[in-house]
Parts: sequence; C-alpha cells; structure tokens
Amino acid sequence: MSGLVPGQVTQLVPGVWRLLALNPGMMTGPGTNTYLLQAGDGLMVLDPGPADSQHVANIRAAAAEIGLPLQAVLVTHTHRDHSPAAEALVEALQLRRLGPEAPADGFQDEAWAPDQILQDGDVVALGNEQRLRVIATPGHVSNHLCYLHEDTGLLFSGDHLIQGSTVVIVPPAGSMRDYLASLEKLRSEHITRLAPGHGDLIEDPQAYIEHTIGHRLRREEKVIRALRLHPDSTANDLVGTVYDDVPVFLHGVATLSLMAHLLKLEEEGLAAQENERWALLAS
Ligand SMILES: [Zn+2]
Repeated sequence: MSGLVPGQVTQLVPGVWRLLALNPGMMTGPGTNTYLLQAGDGLMVLDPGPADSQHVANIRAAAAEIGLPLQAVLVTHTHRDHSPAAEALVEALQLRRLGPEAPADGFQDEAWAPDQILQDGDVVALGNEQRLRVIATPGHVSNHLCYLHEDTGLLFSGDHLIQGSTVVIVPPAGSMRDYLASLEKLRSEHITRLAPGHGDLIEDPQAYIEHTIGHRLRREEKVIRALRLHPDSTANDLVGTVYDDVPVFLHGVATLSLMAHLLKLEEEGLAAQENERWALLAS
C-alpha cells in the first residue's frame, strides 16, 4: 500500500499530496482522503474531511511539512465525512471555500457555506498554467463534483468512484439514473488515474468506470428479475434476493441503493409503486 496511513503525507504527482483522515469504517473504508494541491504560492485543501481536531492538526502539519501556506478549501460534496473540517480551518486561517451548495436532505454538513459556488465546466486556476476543471457528477448525491487536474489527467473523484467498493446512493438527494449518466459523461474525458475520496489511486480509470457501469446494470437486471418473480413486494422484501451476494449485515444499507434502482425503473416507466409495493409495468 502506498501511504494509506493516517497523518502521513504522500506526494502523488508534483504539486499534489494525499493525507488520510482518522475515520476508517464500514462506509469510509480506510478513511476519507484529503488532498493538498499546490496553487501558486499556497495550498488548496480538497475534501478536508470530518470534523476531527486531530485531522485538522494533521492538515496544518502537512502544509508545514510541504512548506506552503493553506489558502483555500475545495469540496467534492458535503457529506459529513468530506467537508466539515473546513469550518475549523476557515475559522483559524480565513481560507476561501469553493464548491457546491449543500442540498437539504438531513445527511449534509449544514455549516458548509461556499464563498464561491462551483458548477459544471468551471475552472479553478492553480498557477503555472495548471488548472482544475469542475465536472458535475450528480448521483451519489445531487451536488457531487469531480475535479480534473488537466495537466496530469488525475481525476479527484470524491465518492463518485471509490476504490474497493461501490458507493451507496440514498434517494432523494442520490439518484441511480443520474449516477449512471455521470459515469457515462466521464467516459469521454481524458483521465489517466482516479484519486478517490476513499482508498488508493485507481490506475485504469476507463476500465474501472466500465466495470462500475456493468456492475450497476447487472444489479438492475437482478431487481427486474426479482420483481418478475415477486410482484407487489417492498424494497425490504426484495433486498435478500437482489443482494444475495452481499452479507446480511449490509442489507440495511443495500436497501437504500435498491430504492435508488427502483426509482430509476419508475422514472423510466418500467416499474411502479403503490403503498411502497413495487411491480413491473407491462411494456
Ligand atoms: Zn459521500
């Protein structure tokens, strides 16, 4: 493993470093990756991570070790394992905040308030003719952004693509239909590697994107088969069949993504619900 150790700074390419937060877990894998990017004579913090004073101290120590001052905070999205450390950094160092606004679904960092709201196609200048291009990738959550480091082709993929597992999609802020469309959108980008929100660098991004699309579509096929066999079922009734390859202790979380699949089928006119009981529509 290349440096997935909390508190240890790892240089990925010239001008880009990674620092792991101290929040390993079922939903976060080894923990949240915070990235530090050189921008002119300072540093931007991309995904500062959870509200944890030790991680905030580690970010400041990392900047001291690199020898550049922290100047701005950038986030891929506002889930509570990605953005809340911004508050302590902004308070101590008056950093500028860049990123999306948070949707009001009860799962977001409510303290997040960007000084500059970023949208699809926006460019963040890093100095020396280097830049980050914003690619809106709704799906995991509606405000999700990826950032393409155009010079190196490194894509900061947040929770759109993470290493070693699939991401949970929680409706209504999460949408399976948007998620798949956002994956399709990345297929035409020149990406050399993924720098995910959780886990190590991913070396063959287009194969990984392909694999992820295939995985989701195979899951959708299982949803359709399960509905065909068991019409008028709730998501809870279906989860054991659709996620029979996933350990039972994860079925609570899997039910959320299953709901995202069912809603996608509903949006596409392939399924309908009545009193939370789902059935396929005859085509
Ligand atoms: Zn997330």
